[in-house]
Amino acid sequence: MQGVAGPPRSPHNAAVTALSSLAGLGKAELAEKLVAIGVEPRKAKMRAEQLWRWIYHYGATDFGAMTNVAKELRATLAERYTLARPEIAAAQVSQDGTRKWLVRLGPGVEAECVFIPDVGRAGALCVSSQVGCTLNCTFCHTGTQKLVRNLTAQEIVAQVLIARDALGEWPTPERPLNDGDRQLTNIVFMGMGEPLYNLENVSAAIDTISDGDGVSISRRRITVSTAGVAPRIKELGERTGAMLAISLHATNDELRNQLVPLNKKYNLAELFDAIRTYPSLNNAKRVTFEYVMLKGVNDTLAEAKALVKLLAGIPAKINLIPFNPWPGAPYECSDWETIEKFAEVLNRAGYSSPIRTPRGRDILAACGQLRSESVKQRASERLKAAT
Ligand code: SAH
Repeated sequence: MQGVAGPPRSPHNAAVTALSSLAGLGKAELAEKLVAIGVEPRKAKMRAEQLWRWIYHYGATDFGAMTNVAKELRATLAERYTLARPEIAAAQVSQDGTRKWLVRLGPGVEAECVFIPDVGRAGALCVSSQVGCTLNCTFCHTGTQKLVRNLTAQEIVAQVLIARDALGEWPTPERPLNDGDRQLTNIVFMGMGEPLYNLENVSAAIDTISDGDGVSISRRRITVSTAGVAPRIKELGERTGAMLAISLHATNDELRNQLVPLNKKYNLAELFDAIRTYPSLNNAKRVTFEYVMLKGVNDTLAEAKALVKLLAGIPAKINLIPFNPWPGAPYECSDWETIEKFAEVLNRAGYSSPIRTPRGRDILAACGQLRSESVKQRASERLKAAT
């Protein structure tokens, strides 16, 4: 077992983490926390909205800054709660400007998130929804890490707060920030884990991230990627209004069973039936199909043509992803020429099919390279590690 226990906590840290943080909570949860410290229930909603704006619009990390909140309440808040973000266990910056954070969510529980400049309107944050993954896609590094646990909605939202902190793009009442100045404009659920196996929390997190009084990233700029959990696809659309991405990677069941074992549970026919039920698909709201280019495995022109057939009638764009290598990976990336020819077939059929430029490969931050050392521990092991 590797690196399961975090470094020993200093007494100072222990005291700080004993207070729970409000940063990342949804509106209703925030109101409950206020009632718990004596705010009148009928005033809690209004107070929660005030706090909300400080937390998510201004990125406050200190109750003292909340000038429109009564002094007494600010003091009580500071006694009982914090606005702390989870600890950043490691931060890396790639040569190409991509940034990766390893976020510590508890002792031995770590997830990665990645900021990629110059994608989407200005830049996208790739967030994790689980620590580890259950799917075991054979080309994915995260798939080599067993599921530790689902992230809470608060932990998902905290990744966005951490990125905004690091990018230094919180406005202040004196210094408003125009939307056009923002670096972080898009969110993609393409980090560790399968978002549709944690839909409850993903959906709650999207409510907080998209709220116009707060982080204010519109649902149209939030994309949720799934390996194909067919029975939850429609529900994802109904609950979140997010953009849908499907990790397809193969055009026939035989190959897809190998690459994405989840296909044995929900085959291509079932998956495509589900995709067709995604609410409000049209040419302005297309499904993104992700297709990883694996040398000699799924990259023939016949497969490009099969892909065109498969997508018939679905408003779609295709993202060709050059395979990103990781230590011990059993695949190679297709040759550039092959990828371009593959793209050409799709383009000729009328599909936008950009080739995703690998970003942050040098810090293992590119698609499918994320992984943390966290492993699931039994309660007895956890106890041992803590002592
Ligand atoms: N479980 C979800 C969310 C992860 S998204 C899903 O599968 O969609 C991560 C994306 O990167 C997916 O499209 C995944 O298939 C792709 N990917 C995984 N490993 C990769 C690799 N080594 N190189 C390129 N893309 C990879």
